[in-house]
Amino acid sequence: MTFATLGLIEPLLRALETLGYQTPTPVQAQAIPAVLAGRDLMAAAQTGTGKTAGFALPLLQLLTMEGPKVAANSARALILCPTRELAEQVHASVAEYAQHLPLTTYAVYGGVSINPQMMKLRKGVDILVATPGRLIDLFRQNALKLNQLQTLVLDEADRMLDLGFSEELANIYRMLPKKRQTLLFSATFSDEIRLLAGQMLNDPLTVEVSPRNVAASTVKQWVVPVDKKRKPELFVHLMRKGRWKQVLVFAKTRNGVDALVDKLQGLGINADGIHGDKPQATRQRALDRFKSSDVQILVATDVAARGLDIEDLPLVVNFDLPIVAEDYIHRIGRTGRAGNTGEAISLVCADEVNMLSAIEMLTRQTLTRKMEPDFEPEHRVPDTDASGQVVKKPKKPKKPKASGGGGGKRNLGKWVDSGDAAAAEPSIKPVRKVPVFNTGPRKKK
Ligand code: AMP
Repeated sequence: MTFATLGLIEPLLRALETLGYQTPTPVQAQAIPAVLAGRDLMAAAQTGTGKTAGFALPLLQLLTMEGPKVAANSARALILCPTRELAEQVHASVAEYAQHLPLTTYAVYGGVSINPQMMKLRKGVDILVATPGRLIDLFRQNALKLNQLQTLVLDEADRMLDLGFSEELANIYRMLPKKRQTLLFSATFSDEIRLLAGQMLNDPLTVEVSPRNVAASTVKQWVVPVDKKRKPELFVHLMRKGRWKQVLVFAKTRNGVDALVDKLQGLGINADGIHGDKPQATRQRALDRFKSSDVQILVATDVAARGLDIEDLPLVVNFDLPIVAEDYIHRIGRTGRAGNTGEAISLVCADEVNMLSAIEMLTRQTLTRKMEPDFEPEHRVPDTDASGQVVKKPKKPKKPKASGGGGGKRNLGKWVDSGDAAAAEPSIKPVRKVPVFNTGPRKKK
């Protein structure tokens, strides 16, 4: 199968040739004809499978072939993304695919001045990539009208709910014309997302190119048990032993990112960090320097690193396990992209056993454990497996003591860690709200 047989027009084929895309990926093969046919879509695909081109290519084609010229302060298609970095990245891909088309594209997000964005929108743009909060600000300040909107894309929709954007999504939904095409993309599908899709989509075609919630099979994953306080030392040890060259490291909290970066820099290691407290320009600069290999170790929180596409990233290290089990799939999806192989190593302490168990249950695998000599933990990490059970070893009879911890509990794949959940990023609400929309019948397209 080729992109030409999927019915794409010549200017898009030319752009793809320049980019070296020869064969459509499975999600592209399914999504492109469906979007061209005007269908609503609910697509689940593993990270790094080419989902951006899956929605952007047919969208660009439809905007070229159909619909009026864009009016002032308007957009004909809107792509909503959960983070600024993802918005930038999606916009960069869309602009590349659109290089031979007479269409305008632009990205808006918070953390930077709104005025240049308002100026840019004056003439209108065909495709607007946006984060939800800034989109609403622009709409409320009359810098953007959405009555011309033909297509809405929700990218990483599950993450938008995780980040607490449910109210923003409900507000945006009310701003949209009823007659439109809606495409919902997500690496993982929670039940809340299915509910959201039921409210926002009209007779959607479901595209699911990989089993639900399975991590990329090209990524070799394992766990190194260690005591919490020895994690930095173990990280440096593994880094030197493995001669790591380019590593994306995930820490749970903003403070955790800063502390690890300070420690590494103190040892003369070329490291930088990104998290939500840092100004957008600083985050982007750190990311660009990491991509160009000017920075060797990039330490990030989940919010800052979400959806980043870094070519040929060989290794992801989970310095801390993620607060939300599904984030594990997103994190390790930064490596092993576009058919390359990668490695994902998680440093796990006894406190994190429930998180480990939830990840194993979600990804339906028992992660291999490799003890590192001289770093064997004093606080043993209880055994876990893909059933979600934390297996407690029978203890030697000892004098009776009150038992703590959550061992033996069945895990539901999501938790808030008791310790520093408040400082964790994003601020996770224990119960996620799903937006409630007008449930009146949608007009037929
Ligand atoms: P995505 O899942 O959209 O983030 O894409 C992951 C990576 O795969 C990006 O670097 C894309 O440029 C690349 N990619 C997407 N589709 C193709 C394709 N058909 N052939 C080769 N590379 C692709």
